[in-house]
Amino acid sequence: MSNVKNVKKYEFKAEVKKLLDILVHSLYTSREIFLRELISNASDALDKLRFEQNKGTEIVNNELPLEIRITFDEKKKILTISDTGIGMTHDEVIANIGTIAKSGTEEFAKMLAEVKGDVGNIIGKFGVGFYSVFMVAKEVTIKTKSFKKDEPAVEWKSDGLGDYEITEIEEKINRGTSIIIQLKDDAEEFAQKWKLESIIKKHSNFISFPIYLENEKI
Ligand code: ADP
Ligand code: MG
Repeated sequence: MSNVKNVKKYEFKAEVKKLLDILVHSLYTSREIFLRELISNASDALDKLRFEQNKGTEIVNNELPLEIRITFDEKKKILTISDTGIGMTHDEVIANIGTIAKSGTEEFAKMLAEVKGDVGNIIGKFGVGFYSVFMVAKEVTIKTKSFKKDEPAVEWKSDGLGDYEITEIEEKINRGTSIIIQLKDDAEEFAQKWKLESIIKKHSNFISFPIYLENEKI
């Protein structure tokens, strides 16, 4: 592969590791909210893109419709969530995905112990949204291309255990972000149409951008 030489490995910050450990080991019953978190990130990215458009900023692939697309492969247990939002540059991926910008894990863990029930809300509140994907994922790949001119597309990959890899990809991809999830064996239901449809309707019905599930608008 031509891009292997570009691969760089990074370790998660200690606080991220701790958070991942909590998410993976103690939240089994609320696993489905990972999808709400990813859709909400996609929607945020689309909002930011629209804001740049309104300012008149020069934008890569400005013609793309602002939308969220969800596809799955039931046999291979793969789920993909794509958006045509602002995307991320190489440095933004490291800054946004590799660290926890918001409240500390300590506080999060305390809240978890206190509420027991509605874990989904707490995850949202504490801004640990993205990492909730590791409740269902064996491996996650992010492919992203910024709206900014002349920024290469970037691939981020991790099994959520200790570290992640970042590669600049040569492959021509459109502006926006795709989150490609290799599901855990016991999470294969999240590559099934009826399940995805019901989670989206339950948790993401307020999203203002169109959501497509395998080309069908939800
Ligand atoms: P929050 O959404 O509360 O900021 P998350 O953990 O859900 O926390 O996401 C962390 C950050 O990663 C986001 O703030 C954003 O900068 C970046 N990010 C996540 N998903 C996307 C996406 N689909 N497109 C662009 N940036 C994203
Ligand atoms: Mg979020």
